[in-house]
Amino acid sequence: SKEAGKNRYTMFDSSMEDELNRNISIIEVLRNAIDNNEIYVKYQPQYELKSNTIIGFEALMRIKSNRLGPLSPDEFIPVAEESGLIIELSHWLIKEACKFNKKLIDYGIPPKFVSVNISSVQINHPGFVESLSEILEETGLPPEYLVLEITESTLVSSITDATKLLNNLQKIGLKISLDDFGTGYSSLNYLTRMPINTLKIDKSFIDHICTSKKDAHIAELIISLAHNLQIKVVAEGVENEDQLALLREKKCDYVQGYVFAPPLHPEELEDLIKKE
Ligand code: C2E
Ligand code: CA
Ligand code: CA
Ligand code: CA
Repeated sequence: SKEAGKNRYTMFDSSMEDELNRNISIIEVLRNAIDNNEIYVKYQPQYELKSNTIIGFEALMRIKSNRLGPLSPDEFIPVAEESGLIIELSHWLIKEACKFNKKLIDYGIPPKFVSVNISSVQINHPGFVESLSEILEETGLPPEYLVLEITESTLVSSITDATKLLNNLQKIGLKISLDDFGTGYSSLNYLTRMPINTLKIDKSFIDHICTSKKDAHIAELIISLAHNLQIKVVAEGVENEDQLALLREKKCDYVQGYVFAPPLHPEELEDLIKKE
């Protein structure tokens, strides 16, 4: 009716208009980020607790716009996904990360694993597996040193058979890490049925392992379950020594978090690795 139409219109208030304009501006920034050099990568090291050395690092996308300033991934990643621009931005990032890791390997230091985040838009994109093969070929990085971080919700939303997809990725030689484990779906099916090399316990559990017996217990259960399935465990968002001590005691394999290092510029990570 005319009334309902009018109401619908008035519900579109000025705050929604602001949000819409902001999104349009962000899309504009993302569309030109590669050409304008407004995209770059930071790398956060992952430490092996047994040896206290860096075994790998996660590549995290950064956007710093001349017009809008630095954008938080929590703001621009969803916009990149909804607009489809994540495909080309992530392709750029993965290539950059593989190039960087190949360079480190060529120094002759012990090879490290570089992890990249994969969103559901990419998983459901027909050219996904081919584009990864292409990047590996172009950069010369041996596939076993590239890890794809995929969340359970991404696997659930996969339109192609997720098991088949992961098997294909593993056939190329890539490693798979189940990201943000313990949030959202957490179907144990994924752990037992899919070819998964590592899982990352989500920061939301790590935050409370020293204060909540329940969360400590869940972390312990996840670690022993994973180990029974030959899966390695990364704890993410570890911020202090108490959490670190507890994770050591529970036999967690790897740790990523401010307690060791925040995400770093490539040169900073390079220095850190060369000093080991
Ligand atoms: P994530 O995959 O869970 O990445 C870990 C996030 O935790 C990063 O945030 C990292 O900076 C932050 N972090 C690491 N250690 C600590 C800590 O000790 N304390 C706290 N408070 N935070 C810590 P960031 O870089 O802001 O990224 C946020 C999310 O954006 C990521 O969460 C990931 O889901 C997404 N993202 C980032 N880069 C990419 C990308 O290239 N592609 C896709 N698809 N998503 C990305
Ligand atoms: Ca991740
Ligand atoms: Ca994560
Ligand atoms: Ca997380």
